[in-house]
Amino acid sequence: MEITHIEHLGIAVKSIDACLPYYEGVLGLKCYNIEVVEDQKVKTAFFKVGQTKIELLEPTSEDSTIAKFIEKKGEGIHHIAFAVPSVQDALDEAASKGVQLIDKAPRGGAEGLNIAFLHPKSTCSVLTELCMEGDK
Ligand code: ZN
Repeated sequence: MEITHIEHLGIAVKSIDACLPYYEGVLGLKCYNIEVVEDQKVKTAFFKVGQTKIELLEPTSEDSTIAKFIEKKGEGIHHIAFAVPSVQDALDEAASKGVQLIDKAPRGGAEGLNIAFLHPKSTCSVLTELCMEGDK
């Protein structure tokens, strides 16, 4: 697979508002985008750290996968996202190597990027997202 960089780290939080004082006030990062992704039932907040972003994920509904994650494991790092030139090619390659896929085809994620997830069963327990390279 041709990974160019870590696109973002996804961090599950109960409240984005409660986390802003830390990320902005202590770390000095600037939240440049807050966006609700309806089909994933999450509100997302983005910070840039060099080429990599931090994506805070706040559940907007109790049946959101993020709500379930927080219930089971508590707040914390939820997934790692790698940038690849083609999400479909990367998925096909992963599938051909026996990796269990959550998404068989890319779908739209936050920031208009094409994304797809690999199942943690096949990725040493880290939920792994592949997303298209983009400069947003
Ligand atoms: Zn993500």
